[in-house]
Amino acid sequence: MTAIGFVGTGVMGQSIVRHLLQAGNRVYVYNRTKKKAEELLAEGANWCETPRDVAQEADLVFTMVGYPSDVEEVYYGKNGLFQTESKGKVFVDLTTSTPTLAEKIYETALTREAGSLDAPVSGGDLGAKKGTLTVMAGGSEEVFQQVKPIVALFSSDLKLHGGPGSGQHTKMANQIMVAGTMTGMTEMLVYAQTAGLDLEKVIHTLSGGAASNWSLLNYGPRILKEDYSPGFFVKHFVKDLKIALDEAKKMNLNLPSTQLAYKLYSDLSAESFEEHGTQALIKLWWND
Ligand code: NAP
Repeated sequence: MTAIGFVGTGVMGQSIVRHLLQAGNRVYVYNRTKKKAEELLAEGANWCETPRDVAQEADLVFTMVGYPSDVEEVYYGKNGLFQTESKGKVFVDLTTSTPTLAEKIYETALTREAGSLDAPVSGGDLGAKKGTLTVMAGGSEEVFQQVKPIVALFSSDLKLHGGPGSGQHTKMANQIMVAGTMTGMTEMLVYAQTAGLDLEKVIHTLSGGAASNWSLLNYGPRILKEDYSPGFFVKHFVKDLKIALDEAKKMNLNLPSTQLAYKLYSDLSAESFEEHGTQALIKLWWND
């Protein structure tokens, strides 16, 4: 039995912790709002009052919070993970955050004789529930090999993409692609409905051809059921697209389609849809 720490028991974190518990591990959890950890506590997880306490109890600590600012607080805050002896411990950040912050955590961990990985995920709330997430890691080969068997408990595809920050860069590549599939799917539905087509039939047909993609298969049916629950929060996608565009700018890249997706999702956010799932993009057209 391994002692594992986990900070951030939201939509994704909750399901991931469940897989760690089901495999017989001792899991120490902390979340800003304790209520969101209560189901896990009933299932055998142990509550800690601060991230620092989590790091004291566990040798391997996962973090999965919302924004880079949350990651900064959890690691460097006055009750943060780095406020206790870290020698020999490993920290794995599953949050979608910035490559720069991943590099900073790596450097801090190194000076404290600890290990770290940036390891953002893809596969959505359903992937987390099923334990089939795709994990894209950045860091050292040694730490990667060390955590691989534990990460495999909630992932079906785990790859190391390079040094610190490479996991976050890979996740940005993923989000640039998803920006295209979400805007494409939404405009497709708007067009098909206006042309008087049977939307269920259209989704079924498109799913078998060259237009098939994850957004269509997973979010198309949710839109037809008028299910706009998260899933993946609009507010987090706005965060991700902003990180992707900032990183692109640093590399002197112009990404006009991603810029447009960022504008559309920012408009959606401004219309009070930030707590909805990203499939709510259709609400820019279908607003009844
Ligand atoms: P979420 O439900 O908002 O979960 C984040 C959790 O972190 C919340 O429970 C939040 O606490 C907690 N938290 C935030 N700041 C904290 C702090 N300083 N100390 C302790 N806990 C803190 O979001 P999610 O959907 O699980 O997503 C988490 C991350 O994964 C995001 O970066 C997101 O972009 C990424 N991601 C999500 C998906 C998806 O499909 N959902 C897929 C891939 C990647 P409160 O309860 O107090 O808010």
